[in-house]
Amino acid sequence: MELPQATNFIEEIINEDLKNNVCSSVITRFPPEPNGYLHIGHAKSICLNFGIAQKYNGKCNLRLDDTNPEKEDVEYVESIKKDIQWLGFQWDGEVRHASDYFEKLYEWAKVLIKKGKAYVCDMSAEEVAATRGTPTEPGKESPYRNRSVEENIDLFERMKNGQFPDGSKTLRAKIDMSSPNMHMRDPVMYRIKHATHHRTGDRWCIYPTYDWAHGQSDYIEGITHSICTLEFEVHRPLYDWFLDQIATGPRPRQIEFARLNLSYTVMSKRMLLRLVQEGFVNGWDDPRMPTIAGLRRRGYTPDAIKNFAKLVGVAKKDSMVDIALLEHCIREDLNKKANRVMCVLNPLKVVIVNYPDDIEYVEGINNPEDPSAGTRTIPFSKVLYIERDDFMENPPKKYYRLSPGAEVRLRYTYFIKCVNVLKDSNGNITEIHCTYDPDTKNGYAPDGRKVKGTIHWVSAQHAIHAEIRLYDRLFTKENPSEVEEGKDFTDYINPDSLKVVHGYIEPYVRGAKAYTNFQFERLGYFTVDPDSHDDRIIFNRTVTLKDTWAKIAQKEE
Ligand code: ATP
Ligand code: MG
Repeated sequence: MELPQATNFIEEIINEDLKNNVCSSVITRFPPEPNGYLHIGHAKSICLNFGIAQKYNGKCNLRLDDTNPEKEDVEYVESIKKDIQWLGFQWDGEVRHASDYFEKLYEWAKVLIKKGKAYVCDMSAEEVAATRGTPTEPGKESPYRNRSVEENIDLFERMKNGQFPDGSKTLRAKIDMSSPNMHMRDPVMYRIKHATHHRTGDRWCIYPTYDWAHGQSDYIEGITHSICTLEFEVHRPLYDWFLDQIATGPRPRQIEFARLNLSYTVMSKRMLLRLVQEGFVNGWDDPRMPTIAGLRRRGYTPDAIKNFAKLVGVAKKDSMVDIALLEHCIREDLNKKANRVMCVLNPLKVVIVNYPDDIEYVEGINNPEDPSAGTRTIPFSKVLYIERDDFMENPPKKYYRLSPGAEVRLRYTYFIKCVNVLKDSNGNITEIHCTYDPDTKNGYAPDGRKVKGTIHWVSAQHAIHAEIRLYDRLFTKENPSEVEEGKDFTDYINPDSLKVVHGYIEPYVRGAKAYTNFQFERLGYFTVDPDSHDDRIIFNRTVTLKDTWAKIAQKEE
């Protein structure tokens, strides 16, 4: 086989293994625990595992590591499958489950007992923890450590048969209580939990620990390269020790990489679950969540996420990636893909006093980056909305938008000039009157006269009224997981992470399907929310056109 060019240290290892015939093909897996929705960190791992399988013409399994019945749920399972497929990947064959291997793991546990390498321990979880020692002090051996094989087999069977209450016994590997590696100090392999499992129901009341299930599951599936995050590096000797006891065939090679951390974001499922359960956000797919479901609803595309994963790359050292990079990736993708439309978020009524009570149409370019996107017609009439910001009664120098006596271009069409400003009794501007130059319909004056500003607008009688959800970063602190004394990470939530406003959009967006991306000219990228329907049209802001936070930071310097 012609080896592909390696682009990171993981692919270099794989190339070496293929060259040395350690394996003849590549099988990877993505092994999520179905105890929450997948997030952008998982997306990195998905792109890595499925990407490597694609690159090497190999296979990638999806295995749900479902060893923790109390925290798991079919809702999570379904969301995991949906999100992987949405990203554009497909696992090999059926979805696999650690629970598919419960029987096999149970048999192997008995093999360990028979070899004198595992024992039933009656200590409580607290006692086990208290006798583990510290990294510099050895642990204490369990008083149950030297039970006979016969007694262990008998007790283990009775554990499985439901004869003991939760937490009263565990099965532990018999390794070395004074090992400098804490994970080798007689780790627990099974605990008793009389809990209903979402797949195996009440068939089991003992459940394997992640450590006992994980490496063996990889081995059963013939995984050649088990790619995981750095915290599992210290577990590797234990995984090797387990396989030493039971493996006869080729073993997976474990390779660790640094997990993705993103600024202004929390990624731990425990924290994400709290955000959902305590109502800080509206569910796992809230557009402010770093979940794949949240990003999708925010208007992110699979291509943008995959490109982000590629740009971040894989490393051996933990670091923090700037969320601005993720935002850059979606801007870049939508710049190529999203059709442009005009939308006014903070309207100011403009009456064109010399325009007839008529309607005409002007032509708009859907996407200057993509000629195949074509053009559309935009209705124009006597009463328009423009952005309140685009008018100033007493403008400073270099203000090139609309002001009394000044002339601007309306995007795609006429020049207009402000001739009158109307106010209410409090002095607030209620509308402005303008005149238009009928000779400038195509956006240029035949006499060669120039204007400096072009502003967007919507015909009032044609405008689509929409609920516009202006999302922003969920946290104000760069690393919200680093919680100061006496605080909680939820104290760092950005109070302005969601503002809802009423917008007026040109009629072109009518009937657009959920998740369709648009660029609202001069404002940002927006997407149709899945709850949107004809009677209540809803758009979510994906991202502004520029990195507004960077601008603020610069100003403060
Ligand atoms: P948490 O600690 O938040 O519960 P986890 O790592 O336990 O997350 P799993 O469902 O076990 O979550 O993760 C499935 C796979 O995704 C694992 O292989 C894990 O290494 C990988 N993964 C999880 N979080 C990240 C991340 N932030 N960056 C890269 N990979 C990740
Ligand atoms: Mg995990």
